[in-house]
Amino acid sequence: MPISRFAQHLGMADTSPMSPEELKERLAQMARDLGFGLFGVAPATPPDRAEYIRAWIADGRHGGMEWLARGIDRRLDPQSVLPGARSLIVLGLAYHPPDPADPSGIAAYARGDDYHRVIEPRLRSMAAWLQSQSGAAARAYVDTGPIIERDAAARAGIGWIGKSTMLISHGLGTWFFLAAIITDAALPIDAPAPDRCGRCTRCIVACPTGAIAAPYQLDPRLCIAYLTIEHRGPIPEHLRPAIGTRIFGCDDCLAACPWNRFAQASRESALRPRPLPPLRHLLSLSRAQFDATFVGSPIRRARWEGFLRNVCIALGNSGVPSDIPALESVAASSPPPVPEHALWAIRTILARGHDSKAPPPPHKTHPWHKWPRSIPNPHRAHRCE
Ligand code: SF4
Ligand code: SF4
Repeated sequence: MPISRFAQHLGMADTSPMSPEELKERLAQMARDLGFGLFGVAPATPPDRAEYIRAWIADGRHGGMEWLARGIDRRLDPQSVLPGARSLIVLGLAYHPPDPADPSGIAAYARGDDYHRVIEPRLRSMAAWLQSQSGAAARAYVDTGPIIERDAAARAGIGWIGKSTMLISHGLGTWFFLAAIITDAALPIDAPAPDRCGRCTRCIVACPTGAIAAPYQLDPRLCIAYLTIEHRGPIPEHLRPAIGTRIFGCDDCLAACPWNRFAQASRESALRPRPLPPLRHLLSLSRAQFDATFVGSPIRRARWEGFLRNVCIALGNSGVPSDIPALESVAASSPPPVPEHALWAIRTILARGHDSKAPPPPHKTHPWHKWPRSIPNPHRAHRCE
């Protein structure tokens, strides 16, 4: 059924005035029917973590993600996005729990179609219905807008920001996308979810590069997800062995979280994994072939040069001497930073010898035992466990 007719199907085209409670309940029902497993409402006020986020950017921890620093004042003030805004509606959509044996090296969220394409039409449908029913202004955003969704989601009771700095849901674990609608409708506000990390440190121990420098403290410059997706240019050589065979993103801290025992399988066919050629074949993709292969996929975010760079590292960590001609070819014909990574991969394969398999990524030992027993979450004003 076309989404534009969804509201009618649900009997939501009634234009009689509704109380804020009824409006919220009808929105929550619509969200459920559109496939969102999580729904909450936060006040349209600056994030609890505003000062932390400012300090984080001032410290340069956003690395090359200049878009994060640009317009930070606007991102931290919902009133500058929508004057008179009263409520932030936050939604979560589950994506497939990853197959532990998946050999693709692609983060679970990116194995299927681009989630923006999946979520945006549904969100726009909800915003349009809200406008039609209440006369309120409403704007919808998935990830790319000026709203800091993770913080809004925590305040809306969707979940809590865990020690991994990712949002954890009591109901869906770690495998879900966030989206938000900002509106000047005054909806009943939900209570924030309590932090349920307790004494767990699994995500920190699981991180291959030590990017979670301490509980609730992520340094993206060490994070494989940042390095393989957002970072342009060469990847520091000392981090390459820890990247292993990951070619787009990293799920280790998500997969380690014990709250995933509640994760639900997604029913979204568009998010199902696409087939992927072997690493050596990926290395031979021209720019045009890369664009065609990954049309409608989040993987295009890494760009062609970045993707080939990542494949070179993965081959360096797992390849065999018969991969060397493909690496030599790409070293001779690709733009920076690919050739340097291809030559590094060749050296690494040769140093490993003929029959060796990929060495296990070096695992950073974290001094977690030195941390205090009770570690406060600096992003939250309260703590329940
Ligand atoms: S995504 Fe990977 S590298 Fe980044 S913090 Fe999580 S486990 Fe560490
Ligand atoms: S793995 Fe443990 S510490 Fe990390 S986010 Fe999940 S519950 Fe919190």
